[in-house]
Amino acid sequence: MKKYTKKQVKKLFDKECFFCGENDYDLLDAHRIIEGKDGGTYHWWNMLTTCVKCHRKVHTGKIKILGKYHSTGATLFKIHYIETCLSADQFQEEKKVTKTQAAELLIGSPNTPLSVSFQKQDGTERTMRGKLVKPEPLLGRSMVEDLDSDDKKNRLRQVDHRTINWLVVDGVKYTVKS
Ligand SMILES: [Zn+2]
Ligand SMILES: [Zn+2]
Repeated sequence: MKKYTKKQVKKLFDKECFFCGENDYDLLDAHRIIEGKDGGTYHWWNMLTTCVKCHRKVHTGKIKILGKYHSTGATLFKIHYIETCLSADQFQEEKKVTKTQAAELLIGSPNTPLSVSFQKQDGTERTMRGKLVKPEPLLGRSMVEDLDSDDKKNRLRQVDHRTINWLVVDGVKYTVKS
């Protein structure tokens, strides 16, 4: 019988990258939550299955694992993480724009980390760091992935273009003129 290493068993069991869902076995790796240099071992509860891309991001600090893990035998739960998207809320320059320009900037920046402040449907203001995933026409609502959310399955937020207060993209903060 073929003997599997703990790492292989973990990858076969999880089947996909914890962060992005990549499921090509050959691209999967196992990250030790308590890292090797800190004495972490390849125990079931200390491993996260990641793809090579995300694994690199973990080690370069682009993905930060925030939550504490708890082990109950072989169960691992409550791991939170964020993609730090280093530049998402930092800016060196400020500009005033119209509502339409703000909407154009948003839909013109797919897959770019950005920060946006807008009004939710219940009228409250919300600021989030995100990544545009589904652009809509100018006066619509776009889907933005909330990068600070720890809920892996429910990270999409609807941003109504008409309610944008400001937006940070590529180091520039665009504030909507009132
Ligand atoms: Zn991944
Ligand atoms: Zn690792």
